[in-house]
Amino acid sequence: MWLLAAALLLDGVALAAAPVKLVQAGRLVDVRSGKVLEDAGILIDGDRVSAVASFDTLARREPSAESIDLRGYTVLPGFIDTHTHLTNFAFGWRPELELVRSASKTALESIPNARATLQAGFTTVRDCGTYRAFVDVALRDAINAGTIEGPRMSVCGAYVTISGGGGEINATGPDIALPEDLRYGVADGPDAVRKRVRLIVRNGVDFVKVIASGAFLTIGSEPSAREMSREEIRAAVEEARNAGLRVAAHAHAASSIVDAIEAGAASIEHGSFIDDTGIRLLKDRHVYLSTDLYDWDFTIENADKLGWPAEYLEKTRRYYARAEACLKKAFAAGAPVVYGTDAAVYPHGDNARQFAYMVRYGLTPLEAIRSATINAADLLGWSDRVGTIEPGLFADLVVVSGDPLVDVKTLEHPVMVIKGGRVVLDRRAVSH
Ligand SMILES: [Zn+2]
Repeated sequence: MWLLAAALLLDGVALAAAPVKLVQAGRLVDVRSGKVLEDAGILIDGDRVSAVASFDTLARREPSAESIDLRGYTVLPGFIDTHTHLTNFAFGWRPELELVRSASKTALESIPNARATLQAGFTTVRDCGTYRAFVDVALRDAINAGTIEGPRMSVCGAYVTISGGGGEINATGPDIALPEDLRYGVADGPDAVRKRVRLIVRNGVDFVKVIASGAFLTIGSEPSAREMSREEIRAAVEEARNAGLRVAAHAHAASSIVDAIEAGAASIEHGSFIDDTGIRLLKDRHVYLSTDLYDWDFTIENADKLGWPAEYLEKTRRYYARAEACLKKAFAAGAPVVYGTDAAVYPHGDNARQFAYMVRYGLTPLEAIRSATINAADLLGWSDRVGTIEPGLFADLVVVSGDPLVDVKTLEHPVMVIKGGRVVLDRRAVSH
């Protein structure tokens, strides 16, 4: 009897957790067509969208569905940030701090970052690296298991970087030996890169991140300089492909951008000094540019409060104007772009502040929204689960006031966020 009662109770709990929901959207942005549907209905069954039609049609079809009244609001697909670092943070961060943060401390400190990102409407992220190898894998798995709250994560496990390169810590004395998990992806030469990528893949990552050129936020690394050779990048791409994975290439230097595209990378991260050849290759090969635009201003405006090494700020100031000119040219030429913010350079949860910058750099509001939805899903290889509001995909929704196709800044203040059919933020009561 007890067993039977327990089974019935569990059944009841399961049913109560996932009733059919019917969202009544005042306006629904169809990111695929660019059209706005008025008084639309979105039927959610469990964690997936099961139908999209006029609200009246769906209300007649499913009269017992639990209704979510969003008349007066605009509903969009959950956003995707293709470049975050949920295991890092902005204010007070210094590279040597990684030495006193254990992997478990790093993981625990990432929990609020994951929640802030989700509540900002970013229901999916491609997390572009962690110094302590595979903390991101553990974070992704804990989120998927429902242990903690956060966005769906695509993770890369560790930075593949040359010795002393942009993915290294480089802040300790030359006689200080770093633990292996802080240098997991360090490799020199194509064979060593192959071995590192094989080991990284074996640990359950979703993509591979290579540091092709120097970096801004690494001691002694020069962003305009080539670091990995073309052969090393190609070795990483081949090994990733053998595992069915794509490669994201951090590349500021024009030569590294060309090397990475020709070696088969799926995305160029940053792309700060991209030249005409790089722009043409992005378009010809349909490689996405994932470039962080908001964090330049954030860094300069908060330089005194960040507590970062002076070298980081000096490089940022020195290259600001040059990067802006190169990137505006790439945007104007129609290079394929995705939304990637380098979250952790600025505080997690402010991801949507980059929308206004995407527009300032030349996109229309609709194109900016596409960069964070349908394009980003394409880059991740996740178009079958996220990026649009369509039957069969996860019910990931962002709800805002006003018209984001006129003013993208309204995307900075979501009124409601739904992930997998579950309401994770609801500010409707305080938004009027
Ligand atoms: Zn980054």
